[in-house]
Amino acid sequence: MTFSLDNEVELEQTFQDLKSNGYNLDLTRGKPSLEQLDLSSGLFSINLAKFSNSIDIRNYGELLGLEVCREFGSKILKFPKENVIAGGNSSLTLMSQYLASLYLHGSGNGPWLSSERISFLCPVPGYDRHFKLCEEFGINMIPIPLTGSGPNIDIAKRLVNEDPSIKGIWCVPKHSNPTGEIYNEECIKGLLELANIRKNDFKILWDNAYAVHDFDPSEDLADIFMLSKESKTEDSVIAFTSTSKITFAGAGISFIAMSKNNLGLFCKHYSSTVIGPDKVNQARHVLFLKNYENLLNHMKGHAEILKPKFEMVEKWLSHLNNCSWTKPKGGYFVSFNSAPGLAKKIIKLSEEAGLKLTPAGSTFPYGVDPKDENIRLAPTACTLEELEKAMEIFVVCVSLANLESKV
Ligand code: PLP
Repeated sequence: MTFSLDNEVELEQTFQDLKSNGYNLDLTRGKPSLEQLDLSSGLFSINLAKFSNSIDIRNYGELLGLEVCREFGSKILKFPKENVIAGGNSSLTLMSQYLASLYLHGSGNGPWLSSERISFLCPVPGYDRHFKLCEEFGINMIPIPLTGSGPNIDIAKRLVNEDPSIKGIWCVPKHSNPTGEIYNEECIKGLLELANIRKNDFKILWDNAYAVHDFDPSEDLADIFMLSKESKTEDSVIAFTSTSKITFAGAGISFIAMSKNNLGLFCKHYSSTVIGPDKVNQARHVLFLKNYENLLNHMKGHAEILKPKFEMVEKWLSHLNNCSWTKPKGGYFVSFNSAPGLAKKIIKLSEEAGLKLTPAGSTFPYGVDPKDENIRLAPTACTLEELEKAMEIFVVCVSLANLESKV
């Protein structure tokens, strides 16, 4: 670094210099980079005539997806294959369809449509699109803090005991979006106890989007399916994942897994929305990914591309004082906390210097971060050179906001 972060005059000059360069940089969405997408360009030249299966992939049918494809979902989510549906291109769509099924049919306790109020616990900071889905369905969102190894279970238990309208919780259990944390076994058992408190009238929406996305050696996620069987709460766990960040984002395969009991209930609604998934893309993925071991090998290619980017973020952030950030071992994000009250200001300064950041508050329900401190950094999509400049701008803007707030 050629400038001092503590000298206001020097910092202001650096900021003005950065501004005059007219940069157009973006750390907003967690998208794979071009280099990562190229890892899967073999999908374009798959010869589907080689796909031998008794099912004609060109026709309607196979509501639950090709069995060989469900096998991938089963391995990623660690649920039995019979409990897994291989769907279309987006797990977010499956989440929406699942919520719709609860409103229209319920899952053994009557349709949610007839309830006056449905509330969800929302661990924060969290994934903006989970919160958007809740808003769509009119689900009341109650934020609860994350601890670094999953949601704070004591707070969750107190809330569930006090408020009967709470019917579920969003979870991104591995390399959480955006904190990168991995839920530990104690936390997972605690989540299942919430389901027991509610006598299974509770849904743990287990969005395991980053299940195989380690770039550093990571803790194994405890097997929620097995633990739920042990605690007789298997009807409370609904798991999701997709290959959006394995192969092509938005052109991969999504998966949903749940108890046999729930599967039957969900299919009432699901079968009214799909006649059969895109089995051509499923077959293409099966031929390309071959088997789970090969999929894990493919993920090493992603890790090699991603690790230097996360190291770059850490290198720049380590110059900062008076703030904190996460050091993920996988996934797509770094969660940054400024001194309280500065997130909006940092985002505005960064924008002036040509760096787009996710809007302040977007990691919180209703877009409101009560302390105005959290900023989600998504370093994957840009090149390493772009990221270096983006992080320089970010660090300058954080330091400037810090200094100005002391005046
Ligand atoms: N879930 C989480 C936690 C995500 O971060 C994302 C994308 O960023 C998604 C789901 C979207 O997945 P899909 O592309 O399968 O809809």
